[in-house]
Amino acid sequence: MTDGMDWLDHASGIVAHDAPNAYAAVVPPIVQTSLFTFESYAEMEAVYRGLKQRPAYSRGLNPTTRIFEEKVAELEGTEDALSFASGMAAISSTVLTFVSLGERILAVRNVYPDAYRLFETFAKRMGVQVDYIDGLDEVAVEKALPGAKLFYMESPTSWTMEAHDVGTLARLARDAGVMTVIDNSWASPVFQNPIALGVDLVLHSASKYLGGHSDVVAGVVAGPAALINRIRSETHPYLGGKLSPFEGWLLIRGLRTLPIRMKAHEASGLEVARRLRAHQAVESVAHPGLANALPQGLRGTSGLFSFVFREGIDVARFADALSTFSLGVSWGGHESLVVPGAIVRAQAAQPNSAVAFGIHPRSVRLHVGLEGTERLWNDIEAAIDAATL
Ligand SMILES: *Cc1c(COP(=O)(O)O)cnc(C)c1O
Repeated sequence: MTDGMDWLDHASGIVAHDAPNAYAAVVPPIVQTSLFTFESYAEMEAVYRGLKQRPAYSRGLNPTTRIFEEKVAELEGTEDALSFASGMAAISSTVLTFVSLGERILAVRNVYPDAYRLFETFAKRMGVQVDYIDGLDEVAVEKALPGAKLFYMESPTSWTMEAHDVGTLARLARDAGVMTVIDNSWASPVFQNPIALGVDLVLHSASKYLGGHSDVVAGVVAGPAALINRIRSETHPYLGGKLSPFEGWLLIRGLRTLPIRMKAHEASGLEVARRLRAHQAVESVAHPGLANALPQGLRGTSGLFSFVFREGIDVARFADALSTFSLGVSWGGHESLVVPGAIVRAQAAQPNSAVAFGIHPRSVRLHVGLEGTERLWNDIEAAIDAATL
């Protein structure tokens, strides 16, 4: 996995090059530098001829962000990973590495809206064809795959929470000779490992659960070394959307509590979803954990889901009456958040933003944070009372 990276002691995460034991600190250093100097002409030449791998310039390789990458590769059970300044940088760099002029992307419907907008830009400006398919309809997926260069997946989908059988979709794509990429931000590596299910590349908005504290915008893609090396050599350094050492350090810190945070989001999120489903003000709840069974390969659920109010509830009044839940996009941090579907629909009505998907005007998306289930439920119940017309 890390051939030639002898400047880093992988077990300890200590940079061997200039700090053999890093003072025996339990936390790796933030190597906040743009460039790294060489001891000799011979060493510099060896690095630039590709005979020796060590940092030269932080746009390409930085010891702190490298530790984060190695941890993500291990969590996803794969060979290598590459970090980015945002989840969107990871998505755009990955797609641009593998899709060329005139080729076709097949994507599951209801993908993350900004991924959709990126694909629309590729379609309009670069002659890339993009088709969308219901990932729950495996017969339709099988029919649509032939001829595609890339099958772009996300499961569950961001708002509608359609949870796909990722292993079956990956097998259909492999049979059709189509490369697969999946956005695994929702489940995190704690609850879903798509590489083991046959997907080629897995990416994350690390701004969400991997960071977990709403203080970083970052992204990462993980997979076999051969594919990651293509991204590393063809687009990552030239588009230049690299992760900063400080943010890499924050992400390393976030990863240390990822499993316990995910279990807490799961327990609280599922309980709030169950109570909402039983509430007379609620028409339906979209949460994969409320189905009879989770799809194969999904081992748990997170804190993000949506629901639809019955008529007679003023969604704006509901949102304003909440106090522990704050109005705000993004998710994955410690705090609980609410986004009214009507606002996403209003944004979609703007020019160049035509993506409302199946978002119901009376729908609400919640991120259930770590404040405690009873406190969150009391907040929701009181807000529903205040919003009942
Ligand atoms: C937030 C998000 C992204 C984009 O990530 P950024 O870090 O904001 O660029 C991609 N996919 C999903 C599912 C997201 O929620």
